[in-house]
Parts: sequence; C-alpha cells; structure tokens
Amino acid sequence: MKDKRLLVPVVLGLLCILTYIGFNIISEQKTKATVVEINKTVSFAAKDKAQVEAVIAELIASEEKRIGNQVTLASQPLYRLALVPKSEVADQSEIKKILKESLLLKTSAAQIKVNGKPVVCVASVDTANQILSDLKVRLSNCNENEKIVKVAFAEKVEVETAVVSAREVMEPAEAQKLLETGDTTPIEYTVKQGDSLWLIARKHDTRVANIMALNNLKSEKLQLNQKLLISSSNPLITVESVIEGKKTEVIPYTTRITTSSSVSSTQVKQAGRNGEKEITYTQVRKNGRVVENKILAEVITKEPVDRIVVTGPRSSYTMTASRGGSHIGGLSWPASGKITSSYGSRSGSHTGIDIDGRTGDPVRAAASGTVTFAGRQGTYGLMVAIDHGNGLITRYAHCSSILVKVGQKVSRGEVIARVGSTGKSTGSHLHFEVISGGSFQNPLRYLD
Ligand SMILES: [Zn+2]
Repeated sequence: MKDKRLLVPVVLGLLCILTYIGFNIISEQKTKATVVEINKTVSFAAKDKAQVEAVIAELIASEEKRIGNQVTLASQPLYRLALVPKSEVADQSEIKKILKESLLLKTSAAQIKVNGKPVVCVASVDTANQILSDLKVRLSNCNENEKIVKVAFAEKVEVETAVVSAREVMEPAEAQKLLETGDTTPIEYTVKQGDSLWLIARKHDTRVANIMALNNLKSEKLQLNQKLLISSSNPLITVESVIEGKKTEVIPYTTRITTSSSVSSTQVKQAGRNGEKEITYTQVRKNGRVVENKILAEVITKEPVDRIVVTGPRSSYTMTASRGGSHIGGLSWPASGKITSSYGSRSGSHTGIDIDGRTGDPVRAAASGTVTFAGRQGTYGLMVAIDHGNGLITRYAHCSSILVKVGQKVSRGEVIARVGSTGKSTGSHLHFEVISGGSFQNPLRYLD
C-alpha cells in the first residue's frame, strides 16, 4: 500500500461491519408485537390485537353453528405491546391452534344428570329428551310376539339447563353412545388359576371375541399371570322394561306300554302325536337382558296323543330304524313315574332323565342284555349298567338296592334293582341313561 494513512479507517470500517453481522447472528432482531395472555396460563405473541380478535370471533361463530346456542368468552384475553424476537410471533394458523386449545368458551346447554351427577351435555333440552326416549326404545328391544308394558330408567334421570364449557357439548350420537357404554378405556387383567376366556368375559360383561381381538390372541389358551387388556362397557344409564309375551311350546306325547301274551313282538297300537301349549309370560329386562321371568298362563291348544305300545312277555330288544326320524324306540320304561328332569337340563349337563319314584319301587331292564356294572359309583350311588349289544348301553342310578350281578344275562322288563336316593341325589328317583356309540343319548328317543 502506498499511503499508510488510509489503513486505519479501512480496518476500523471492516471491524464495524463484522461486529454488526456477529451481533445479528447472536441476538435476533426484535420487533414490536402484541402479547396475548389467556387465563393467566397461556401466552403468545401476535402481530396485532385485531388479528387475534378475528380468530376468536371465527372460533365463536363455528361453535355457535355446531351447538346452535349463543357462545361467549368465559374470560377476556389480556393484550400488551412488547418487543419480541421476530421468530416468536405466531402466524395465523398457529394463533388458531393455540386459541382452539386454550380459549374457554361458555354456552347454555342441556345437562343429562343420572342420580344427581351430570354425565353428558347436549345442545338443547329437546335433544336430551330425544336421546333419552331413543334409548328407552333401543334398550327395551322386544320381538314381534311381545309388547312393552312398562319402561323406565332404573336411575333418577333429569335434564337441566346449565351454563357449561362449549367443548363439553356433545353431538347427539356421541352422547347416546356414552350413556350406553360408559368409559370403555381398557383395564389390565392378570390371569388367575382356573380362569378361562369365557369366565373372564362373563365377569367383565364383554365377549370372548372382543378380548381376543383387543389382545391379538391366536388361541383361547391362557397362561397363569398373563396380562390381558379388557375393555368392557359400563352403561351410565339402565333402561328397565317389563314386557309381556306369548310363545308356543311343544308338549311331548307320553308312551303307554301294555303287556299282552298274545303278541310275540312289540307292536305300536297307536302312534303318538305331540301337543302344543300357548304360554303367556312376563319378563323384567335391564338394558335388554332378562333379569326376571314369570309364566302368567299356560293354555293347551292341542292335546298330545299317547303312543300305545303292546309288548309280548318275551320280546327281546331290537333296534328300530333310526333313519331320519327323531324317535328310535326299542327300550321299555325302566320305572313308572313322572319325568322330573329331562335330558340336557341343568344347562345341558344332565346326561339322562330322572323318573320320579318311591324308595323300593322296581327298576326294570329297558331291554335284554348283559349286566356290565353293579355296584357303587361316586355321584351315581348304587348303579347298574346293561350292555344290549350294538354299542347300546343303559344305566340305572341312585338305586337303594341292586338285585343283579356283573355278567348276568337279564331280559327286558326284569326287575334288576330298587329305586332309591344313593349318591348325589336330593330324593328318591331313578336317573336313567342311554349311551349309544359311546355318547349319551336322549332316553326319550329310545323309549317306546
Ligand atoms: Zn338325573
């Protein structure tokens, strides 16, 4: 450089420029803005007050449109001017998001109260009443042969007008669903000894399929201490309905057997025909589930016709054709008395029929065969089993005494034991079972 006097100002000038750039990198440029404070908890900066007020007006208008009532601000936002870094000034969409989350809007709405506790809010009293009457219809469902006698809520249900937060006001469908199912947030359940999916589902008022889906289960097999998520419905409201209905039931025919020395084989003298009866009943239901059932009247509309069978004194057991028809026949009645419990009763666990009788009454072989068991067997008490060949076995339980021995050949109608109440039994009767091909059968299908 030729002139050294110029060096100082140039260096100083460069320094100034560098300092200025550096300052701008470290501390951002500030700008004048409006700081908005809502409920003393949320604050943000906006370009100006007018922009914020426009967004608030827009939010109020949209809530008013949704609810159909006037919506107002619960408290006014506070505005002040301040210098803030440019990057902190919220833009239109940010302002909208913040206000939507934090702004408290209030409105007048209808509250549905259950036992004094507000549970849902909807826009109007009319809407609330409509939801409640829809629920009464939906949750008291009855079929075409039934009529509703009475329907009411089990709880004290009231509708009241109240000033609430606008966001509490629900759409009608949403409110109805909440009343019906309550909070369905899943809970965690730990599998205990003896649990099955079915038991767990029953305990939590849900279904096996729901638990399997929620937990991604591939099989129903459970492990001890396994954790399961269970989502069950806990209705907030109970519709209690009383219904009256009519149904037709079959009266099964009875078979009467007469013995005649003039016939050599079993003959059907009169075919049996089932009768019919009309039953009038009343039921109490809670949310559609039967909690009480009472028969009001039974009218026989068609009398059953007895099946009359004449049997020879020495006729042996033969299987009659079982093709298609439900009645197979071939067995004679082992005792005389009313049937007090039918096959498949007690939720399907009853493996035979119970024939009423007094202790000491004769128990007769239902067909000829060989005694394969004669003795005590657990809940059956004193029991006789007879093998009739062709995979057919009959068993006679709760006897007071046994008159035959294992291996003994018996003929149809022969007295093999006496009626009693041994084993698991609550009174004198004969428990009679028919086993064919290794499985229990309804004895009524085999009895002549
Ligand atoms: Zn029984």
